[in-house]
Amino acid sequence: MLDKLVIANRGEIALRILRACRELHIKTVAVHSSADRDQKHVRLADESVCIGPPPARESYLNVPAVISAAEVTDAVAIHPGYGFLAENADFAERVEQSGFIFVGPRPETIRLIGDKLSAIATMKRSGIRCLPGSDSPLSDDMEENLRLARDIGYPVMIKAAGGGGGRGMRIVHSDATLRNAISVTRTEAASAFGNDALYMEKVLDGPRHIEVQVLADEHGNVIHLGDRDCSMQRRHQKVVEEAPAPGISRKLRSRIGEHCVEACRAMGYRSAGTFEFLYKDGDFYFIEMNPRLQVEHPVTEMVTGVDIVKEQLRVASGEPLSYRQSDIDIRGHAIECRLNAEAPYTFMPSPGTITHFHLPGGPGIRVDTHVYQGYTVPPYYDSMIGKLIAHAETRPLALARMTTALTEIVIDGIETNIPLHQRIFSDAAFIAGAVNIHYLEKTLGTE
Ligand code: ADP
Repeated sequence: MLDKLVIANRGEIALRILRACRELHIKTVAVHSSADRDQKHVRLADESVCIGPPPARESYLNVPAVISAAEVTDAVAIHPGYGFLAENADFAERVEQSGFIFVGPRPETIRLIGDKLSAIATMKRSGIRCLPGSDSPLSDDMEENLRLARDIGYPVMIKAAGGGGGRGMRIVHSDATLRNAISVTRTEAASAFGNDALYMEKVLDGPRHIEVQVLADEHGNVIHLGDRDCSMQRRHQKVVEEAPAPGISRKLRSRIGEHCVEACRAMGYRSAGTFEFLYKDGDFYFIEMNPRLQVEHPVTEMVTGVDIVKEQLRVASGEPLSYRQSDIDIRGHAIECRLNAEAPYTFMPSPGTITHFHLPGGPGIRVDTHVYQGYTVPPYYDSMIGKLIAHAETRPLALARMTTALTEIVIDGIETNIPLHQRIFSDAAFIAGAVNIHYLEKTLGTE
């Protein structure tokens, strides 16, 4: 097993990785910005190194600083968590070239699927269905783009090949707005992702977002851990996630899971990953793959009993996965609420000091959070302050547990989206299950 690991992240995921390391007797190094000295994982880690000032580009995104922290502490591996450097193939390559183990897929795999167009081409070769769309980056030839859009059929979506986090995409309904949409998205993509390559894809009307979790080791073992439904979204960002996806039969789940496993084998995939699909009328359409741990991984952990982070660490140390496909059984239902420090309906970030903090509990309740009473949420980073997860034998029971937990939890001093979650968990259509990706914005009136 790995001797010492650098946790190149912050917040709840840094703590999650630290906990997994403790169970595997791996020593930990927390690297943090000067704004994050009071982070729980920084206090708990065996060692900590301040790698820069608060702005992420000078600390968490500062590749030489992260790698030197590994050097000075004699660490052997680096876990990037999610966000920050997690999907940066150049970083993964630098890590490996500097003699460390990158906890994640090979750099070339990250590069391949980090470009959504090459990811789509790869999936098509493995027989995974994708949406009708452009096979190569959009050119500046508007006649050609108009022809393409008409062939695909409006509405179409203009997407950045290097996009992520729900940004860099725009829906176009007719010829009239295509030119402008391409040019605005191109400018945005160049500045946000440093890559102005765009592609076009058919817009599905009212699909669900369903994704499949996979795990692969270096010994040719690949398994899938079933699916998650992440259709409750705002601005293409997930708000509530659940596993398994309501209304998907066991047969369909294992069929799509096996397709993902096959695609992983074809790519020589390593570590944890997620295949994201839009689902409509019984069909799955691949939209992208995430070559990393995801925010919503706990719902899969709760229904499978597999510790995904521990498996990543095992794989990184060269060990085989601890499970075969036949060991994986989906038990019960799990739901996760992302807790954000933000105003519940205007969604404005709400940094500040938490004056009162009380966590819910009881059977089936799991809280992954780094915050505590007296903690100050800094204004520099993502507003997510934790995740509330409820697991039970059935979906109605998991909903009931979450509803109770949402009434028990107290976070004062800052605004949070807890009132929004309370509203979601009393919504009849959500309770019935299987709402589509537009449902949340429609009910909020912000669509
Ligand atoms: P990101 O990498 O930014 O997360 P994705 O490609 O995963 O981008 O898309 C995020 C969300 O945007 C999806 O979950 C879905 O809600 C919406 N979306 C993306 N592509 C389409 C499409 N072709 N038709 C309809 N909705 C889409």
